[in-house]
Amino acid sequence: MAASLRLRGAVSGLRYWSRRQRPAAYSLAAVCSRSMASKTPVGFIGLGNMGNPMAKNLMKHGYPLIIYDVFPDACKEFQDAGEQVVSSPADVAEKADRIITMLPTSINAIEAYSGANGILKKVKKGSLLIDSSTIDPAVSKELAKEVEKMGAVFMDAPVSGGVGAARSGNLTFMVGGVEDEFAAAQELLGCMGSNVVYCGAVGTGQAAKICNNMLLAISMIGTAEAMNLGIRLGLDPKLLAKILNMSSGRCWSSDTYNPVPGVMDGVPSANNYQGGFGATLMAKDLGLAQDSATSTKSPILLGSQAHQIYRMMCAKGYSKKDFSAVFQFLREEESF
Ligand code: NAD
Repeated sequence: MAASLRLRGAVSGLRYWSRRQRPAAYSLAAVCSRSMASKTPVGFIGLGNMGNPMAKNLMKHGYPLIIYDVFPDACKEFQDAGEQVVSSPADVAEKADRIITMLPTSINAIEAYSGANGILKKVKKGSLLIDSSTIDPAVSKELAKEVEKMGAVFMDAPVSGGVGAARSGNLTFMVGGVEDEFAAAQELLGCMGSNVVYCGAVGTGQAAKICNNMLLAISMIGTAEAMNLGIRLGLDPKLLAKILNMSSGRCWSSDTYNPVPGVMDGVPSANNYQGGFGATLMAKDLGLAQDSATSTKSPILLGSQAHQIYRMMCAKGYSKKDFSAVFQFLREEESF
């Protein structure tokens, strides 16, 4: 109960600054001396589907990078571009006092921060550490405590928007952490996103992200079911999508990321569900929603169902496909 009240308080206190509508009160005086250092190197750990284009946008804004990824090939194009590649998160922390991490899961984030060669081994006092991975809010809070003990600052800043928005610099960042540090974080996050939203204390960025992705999973499954039913009833999929998108069933999954091959260009369903947001990552986020629902005693009947569907999809060979492949999964499940 207490936790759910805290969450409600955080959401009602949510403030929203877009890059285009920064309030007059956003003054440089609020920016601490660390971020005033401006184009000093920024550390970036985790150069995967999302981290790669995000780091490139920092480069475009003139920030030199200190790069690390456990998978050396992920660093290659940055090395070729003249950025500095190092051999551990600790080495990143030694060379940069602002670091962004973009890692798959809570376990990876714990390893990168608290592992044998983790950031905390060499972090400098006053450093700003921003974790943009989608992880358990409880883990974000634990990491924040560890970071604080070292005299540095931790913020959780998960993103929504996907690979396309990461490329175009139009991500939405949901930021949790000490409010006084928000402006310093925004200086970097604004290079990679068009919306940077302050949500409240550490962990509230993750809370917002988890709620969004649970809703996204449910709406994607719903869109896939409705499209499949309509096709079985003899409707042309493009026509059905057009009607849904001018009617009350319209949602992001139907009008921007339609899961049916041939309905839209430039989305994973048009490319055998390659790229995009993997079913494994969606299953992971739904697991986080499940854990959070248990700890806050919140009923998430459809969220739980969505979790089971994505787990089953992964077990049946869809783990590397985009999450919109739930349409194909449903069609394969048809047995009568
Ligand atoms: P990814 O698997 O493509 O990339 C992750 C990278 O982190 C990989 O290059 C991997 O080698 C590296 N890595 C893993 N453990 C590491 C460690 N301990 N130290 C250093 N590097 C390590 O994942 P992604 O799609 O880029 O997603 C990253 C995060 O962003 C996830 O939490 C995901 O849920 C979230 N997210 C993804 C999308 C999307 O569309 N892909 C959208 C929004 C949010």
